[in-house]
Amino acid sequence: MFTLDGGEGEGGGQILRTALACSLLTGEPLHIRRIRAGRAKPGLLRQHLTATLAAAEVGEAQVEGAHLGSTELRFTPRTIRGGERRFAVGTAGSAGLVLQTVLPALLKAPEASVLTLEGGTHNPSAPPFDALNDVFVPALARLGAQVTLGLTRHGFFPAGGGRFTAKITPSDLHPTRWLKRGALLRTEAIVLSAKVPPEVGERALECAGRLLDIPAEDRLLIPCPTSPGPGLALMLRLTSESGVEVFTVFGEKGVRVEQLIHRLVGQARVFLSLDAPVGEHLADQLLLPLVMAGGGEIRVAAVSSHTRTNAEVLTRLLGASIRFVDEPEGARVVVEAKRG
Ligand code: AMP
Repeated sequence: MFTLDGGEGEGGGQILRTALACSLLTGEPLHIRRIRAGRAKPGLLRQHLTATLAAAEVGEAQVEGAHLGSTELRFTPRTIRGGERRFAVGTAGSAGLVLQTVLPALLKAPEASVLTLEGGTHNPSAPPFDALNDVFVPALARLGAQVTLGLTRHGFFPAGGGRFTAKITPSDLHPTRWLKRGALLRTEAIVLSAKVPPEVGERALECAGRLLDIPAEDRLLIPCPTSPGPGLALMLRLTSESGVEVFTVFGEKGVRVEQLIHRLVGQARVFLSLDAPVGEHLADQLLLPLVMAGGGEIRVAAVSSHTRTNAEVLTRLLGASIRFVDEPEGARVVVEAKRG
């Protein structure tokens, strides 16, 4: 039985998602208390509840405490089943985080899966669809995972209503070393704009283009006409020799886009000052796949509290050893999985 205090460390939803994924992968029942005790609104929000019910469906699990606001959950999985499924958050809660809860288990299912995920596709404090598709999925592919995503409708916070599909082919993951970012090959500025006057996006692109010397063909204004609600996502996609990183900031009422672009460019410059291929967010998302792969070594641009907490949870639940070695080019993260 895995027993966890969900309020430890970072104290957010990721502890729950990682714990559910570990429970599915090992078949070990999970008892988690103080869910999201570190957040302003503790307990299960719609996104966490959807992730829990999705995990229950995939694992044919018995669950107690799966209701909105719940701070305690008992989860007993029986198996792992792939197939065709639809998981709808029902609010703007992140559909991508629901995917990340069940994806590790579905890579080990006896059959392939086709998931339809509905909810937020572009929300703050979660991986936007573009980060999932351009950064997370290619990183998984390095480990041998076969996953393809397709966006059918953008869904921004607070209206939600987005939709994407995920095709997951059961895969054997292999250990990987990923330590150098290499030279920067291309910088693209991308604005996703839903029900926002186009001049706002154009100003953002002009500002980013000027600050980072981005040619006109790499400044993209993408209208999102089917998005149910308004939204503005400002993104930088950096393609380096060893992969892609995506930085995102969202439009905020009363904040000029130029100010947001300065924030975004600041994030990209910190990343580019190091030679680490793995950005801060990918780092925490890649730890469980690395443990599943039997280990590996990555260099990360920043070690967040999400990453440290996730490492602690994986050490506790799966017996992994995860070490952080500070080095001038970025922290080296050494993952060793338990043998046998
Ligand atoms: P939690 O706050 O515990 O629900 O976890 C949020 C998750 O979203 C973590 O895995 C973060 O790394 C991830 N995340 C937050 N912002 C971004 C972003 N801009 N790009 C990619 N991933 C993100």
